[in-house]
Amino acid sequence: MKHITTAEKIRLADKRVYSFGEGVADGSAEMKNLLGGKGANLAEMCALGLPVPPGFTITTEVCTAFYAEGKNYPQGLEEEVETALAAMERRVGKTFGDAHNPLLVSVRSGARASMPGMMDTVLNLGLNDATVEGLAQGSGNARFAYDSYRRFIQMYSDVVLGLDHYHFEEALEEAKRDRDVILDTELDAEALVELVARYKEIVESEMGAPFPQDPKEQLWGAIGAVFTSWMNPRAITYRELHDIPAAWGTAVNVQAMVFGNRGEDCATGVAFTRNPSTGEKLYYGEYLVNAQGEDVVAGIRTPQPLTVAGKETGGDLPSMEEVMPDVFAQLVRVFDILESHYRDMQDIEFTVENSKLWMLQTRAGKRTAAASVRIAVEMVAEGLIAKEEAILRVDPLALDQLLHPTLDPKAARTVLGRGLPASPGAASGSVVFTAEEAEEKARRGEKVVLVRLETSPEDIKGMHVAQGILTARGGMTSHAAVVARGMGKPCVCGASGISVHAAEGYFLAGERKVRAGDIITLDGSTGDIMLGEVPTLQPHLSGEFAQLMQWADEVRTMQVRTNADTPEDARVARQFGAEGIGLCRTEHMFFDEDRITAIREMILSETTTQRRAALAKLLPMQRADFAGIFTQMRGLPVTIRLLDPPLHEFLPHTREEMQQVAQAIGKSVEEVEARALQLKESNPMLGHRGCRLGITYPEIYEMQARAIFEAAASLSAEFTPLPEIMIPLVMTQNELAILNTLIAGVAKEVMAETGTELPYLTGTMIELPRAALLAGDIAQVAEFFSFGTNDLTQTTFGISRDDAGSFIEIYKKRGVLARDPFVSLDTEGVGELIRIASERGRATRENVKLGICGEHGGDPASIAFCQKVGLNYVSCSPYRVPIARLAAAQAALENK
Ligand code: PEP
Ligand code: MG
Repeated sequence: MKHITTAEKIRLADKRVYSFGEGVADGSAEMKNLLGGKGANLAEMCALGLPVPPGFTITTEVCTAFYAEGKNYPQGLEEEVETALAAMERRVGKTFGDAHNPLLVSVRSGARASMPGMMDTVLNLGLNDATVEGLAQGSGNARFAYDSYRRFIQMYSDVVLGLDHYHFEEALEEAKRDRDVILDTELDAEALVELVARYKEIVESEMGAPFPQDPKEQLWGAIGAVFTSWMNPRAITYRELHDIPAAWGTAVNVQAMVFGNRGEDCATGVAFTRNPSTGEKLYYGEYLVNAQGEDVVAGIRTPQPLTVAGKETGGDLPSMEEVMPDVFAQLVRVFDILESHYRDMQDIEFTVENSKLWMLQTRAGKRTAAASVRIAVEMVAEGLIAKEEAILRVDPLALDQLLHPTLDPKAARTVLGRGLPASPGAASGSVVFTAEEAEEKARRGEKVVLVRLETSPEDIKGMHVAQGILTARGGMTSHAAVVARGMGKPCVCGASGISVHAAEGYFLAGERKVRAGDIITLDGSTGDIMLGEVPTLQPHLSGEFAQLMQWADEVRTMQVRTNADTPEDARVARQFGAEGIGLCRTEHMFFDEDRITAIREMILSETTTQRRAALAKLLPMQRADFAGIFTQMRGLPVTIRLLDPPLHEFLPHTREEMQQVAQAIGKSVEEVEARALQLKESNPMLGHRGCRLGITYPEIYEMQARAIFEAAASLSAEFTPLPEIMIPLVMTQNELAILNTLIAGVAKEVMAETGTELPYLTGTMIELPRAALLAGDIAQVAEFFSFGTNDLTQTTFGISRDDAGSFIEIYKKRGVLARDPFVSLDTEGVGELIRIASERGRATRENVKLGICGEHGGDPASIAFCQKVGLNYVSCSPYRVPIARLAAAQAALENK
């Protein structure tokens, strides 16, 4: 075993070719950037003493230089390759191009990040008309030698010469037809000799030149093809999708061939050290006897399970454990060495040649969210990793997969189109186009999916009873998306490929017409819209999940609250571990049918007396709402935001609705219409709303404050409710001062009336840049700040949430914006305002409580920022609470 010292590494910086073999390696696993994932891990395995065919890796820097120099290799590379090749020959005891005892090699790409199937591989390189005879004699198996040669010609022609596979496949089919056989393996040596001749003819006639016979020419052809494949369209697209910079480049791995296709004691296979879909600690994999790597991928023969246990799902083909017990034992030994060395689940490729195992690749295995949680927790129990590492290993966003029912991945599906994956989970139901229809059908026990051009607050009840929501318009923070996430309801929004014809009762997805009543399925995690019902799997929150969450709670320093407007949301959030409510939007409480009339009456009132009368009807309802929420939270803090209504959202839209409203409240249709027009606002809603409304119509906030205190008083015998009354859209200290006085007045009254002491805090949202800058003044009258980053982002960027979806994606593509600021906090602008406000607020009032309640409160990257600024808590929708708990724990560990 040999380990390279740092000093050596520096000295080796100009080195472009790294050798490995026989327990010695120039590189190591740490050198992924230079050697690519495959090359680095081959070196590491080799140094660990595992059986790795000798070889060498040409670095990613050569790839970068190759493109920088107009596809020319840097000087001296050829000599370095020669030296490495000579070392390889020595180690294997064979010579490249030798007619009697030829060394054959594989040439494979290997980038820093794995890019499965994106680039090219050539096997059996070094074969020609002379060496094939040497291979035949050396192995005593002419059939094997010519089979290897014909595979090589086909692969090399495809990868290096650009000659399509089908030319060769036709010839192969013809050969089988001539001999009256079905399988490739039934062609004997003589047939393969003829086939090779035919293949060479094909190359010569298609390319106008014979198949290259010089092994060195073959080698450089393959190396060039691998570097060139870095820029093939497939690879470029893959990199774009996965944010992999083109400048990283790929390495090239040249390795001595070992043969899995040399007889019945040979095989090739892939394996995981644990089950990648459940995480169970069971070896998991497949292999093929007498085959080469590409046979597994080609799917011509059905691979066999590795283990006896694996036969349950892998059919009843004999397992390797049974067929090759010796080899299986070698493999198990390697699995254990690799897991304890890398301390992570490994994904492995191997070949067996004459009962000897050879390792061709290892890397950290991709896994589902469930597997990732289970593996992390079990590895702590096994003593492989510490709790902190387990916490850091699980991607918080992946937990989403675990919290919602998901589509059965095995089920067939007909995809109609795709929108934004706005709220995860799977939903199936019959298509309805209005909220009323949704309610009506749901009442009859039918499952429905609500399809709208876009949703508005009046659709809330329809959304509530629907299994899922689909909209053609709106971005990730549109009304539909925000509300659906809050409800934990699957939602696909902004599906611009569908056109909704609600009045006619259908929508078009491309050419396809989907009518009301037809069944569709949504996948809110991918944005897919599918025809018919696709079966789902229920979420299963395992013991490991709870364990991981407990560890997360032990290390995090920020609290996690939830945004909840109903006792039901509050209950769900408590189950997910919320430690209070960070935002209860009181306007959402008014959307119920029996309340909307009263609130409309309140909005349309012309005199204070009229308004007070309408408010009196709302008081008992509000009181009951608050009591319900306090009860669920049993003394945990509950931040209640006083009314911040986009008023027009409460008003009727259609003429018909206006008539109904007018009748219900005794006004003319014209009056209702005029008022609706007058109040019309769109995002960002910067008009006469929030605390401005509270100041101009004090009776509204008075009613709400009364409802809060009366609800608290009614429960105070059981426990002490902890309301934190929050004032929206504050721009200046005075607004808050005026409203504080109003609230204090009501508090005093209720305390006197009920004879109870009622603790409470008053504070403000910071959702305007002005408020952030004046936070020092505002803190004189605010006991807490809650950053309303939805509005703060709108007001900082001058982008409306409603419009964002239409151009943010383009902005990201063009590099104007790095990310969608409505999803992940913009740390330079909005974040800077948060930092300033926090500092200035604390300078005035040292213990001012700081939290965030915009959508960003559930985004892990934003949560990491909140930790840096030192917020006391984050608040997010109920279904994101576990994500926020884990993200907060990671943030705390990373800031230690
Ligand atoms: C905000 O602006 O961030 C906020 C939480 O309030 P709303 O989304 O209700 O405007
Ligand atoms: Mg707001």
